[in-house]
Amino acid sequence: MKNITLLGATGSIGMQTLDVLREHKHEFRLYSFAFGKNIEQAARIIREFSPEIVVTQDLPIKQQLTPYIDSSKVLIGTEGLEQVCADPNTDIVVNAVMGSVGLTATLTAIEHQKRIAIANKETLVTAGHLVMEAAKKHNVQLLPVDSEHSAIFQSLNGESHRDIDKLILTASGGSFRDKTREQLQGVSVSDALNHPNWSMGAKITIDSATMMNKGLEVIEAHWLFQIPYEQIEVLQHKESIIHSMVEYTDKSILAQLGTPDMRVPIQYALSYPNRLPLASSKSLNLAEISTLHFSEMDQERFPCLAYAYQAGKQGGSLPTVLNAANEAAVDLFLQEKITFLEIEEIIEQAMGAHQVIVNPGLETIQAIDQETRVQIYDKYE
Ligand code: NDP
Ligand code: MG
Repeated sequence: MKNITLLGATGSIGMQTLDVLREHKHEFRLYSFAFGKNIEQAARIIREFSPEIVVTQDLPIKQQLTPYIDSSKVLIGTEGLEQVCADPNTDIVVNAVMGSVGLTATLTAIEHQKRIAIANKETLVTAGHLVMEAAKKHNVQLLPVDSEHSAIFQSLNGESHRDIDKLILTASGGSFRDKTREQLQGVSVSDALNHPNWSMGAKITIDSATMMNKGLEVIEAHWLFQIPYEQIEVLQHKESIIHSMVEYTDKSILAQLGTPDMRVPIQYALSYPNRLPLASSKSLNLAEISTLHFSEMDQERFPCLAYAYQAGKQGGSLPTVLNAANEAAVDLFLQEKITFLEIEEIIEQAMGAHQVIVNPGLETIQAIDQETRVQIYDKYE
């Protein structure tokens, strides 16, 4: 029986992780969980799973939890997140919070040598060098939850790193894949939130529409698999059936396929190196699908992907600026304070104005993250 600490339990990945736990009650137990402000959902999770500890965003939310759990069992803020990651009873940390708020939790889990199932891609984008350095030092493997990275991880099983020629990340194209740039002028928040293949949290759904999600994933892949950016490609594949691929030097390509269901990579990160049945997931019927489509990714149509490659290749503090500017811009778009196309303008401006710092430490990263957001909110709110 493994004790799970689930950060971001009330979110899209969090709820699907709980589904996996429901299917495997003898293997996994929800020991603790963290959420932001969705009290109703948190109360349901407490009732069903009776966790030992709950972490919430702040004191007012903690006070609203008193009808559901003894307040001695409720922690708050990033300190709370770090505490549950350091807890000796925690075996596996699933980091599924949204945004760079998950960074110090990831670092704490690494220091305490926990198994980490990582969905929180912003952590690797904003401070990949620090996270990977810590993982190496403490001999911790980060197990990817993101479907593309899980596919690559599975396609690398038993292979040698030196035989890799390139990683090929597939991209569905998001909600606006069939629109021209001109047609993006007046798109609304609800149009952008309507993803064709996946049901996900709001921020990542917008990231998919701008293609920033794929950009963040390129940086995530660079760090997780230690592959240069020149050897990471993105291929548009609208059905989301091939979740990603690895091409080897002998031109063999290994891929992982399946119906789009995030519970599959979530479960694999929990059960690795073993597999467990997932009875409620649907089998892939290729005869029924019959045709799969692929096309080259157009970085002019989707400039956010180009910005991510640029930030990744230049490195230093630039990926932190890319990520923070993107988080702030997407938030402003969701609040209907800016237009869809202003998201990419804001990111481009923030990156252009930044003086890159080489090999930034944690405090520098946190300061730049904060500064970038403040400047954007000051201008647009
Ligand atoms: P959601 O927005 O659905 O969920 C985010 C979760 O984080 C919620 O539980 C939210 O709590 C919690 N949260 C936010 N702020 C805080 C905070 N300060 N303290 C504690 N908890 C907090 O996001 P997703 O589940 O879609 O995505 C989560 C991460 O996984 C992201 O990094 C995303 O890029 C990545 N990912 C998601 C995929 C998906 O299919 N959804 C696929 C691959 C990666 P509350 O709602 O209660 O405020
Ligand atoms: Mg993904």
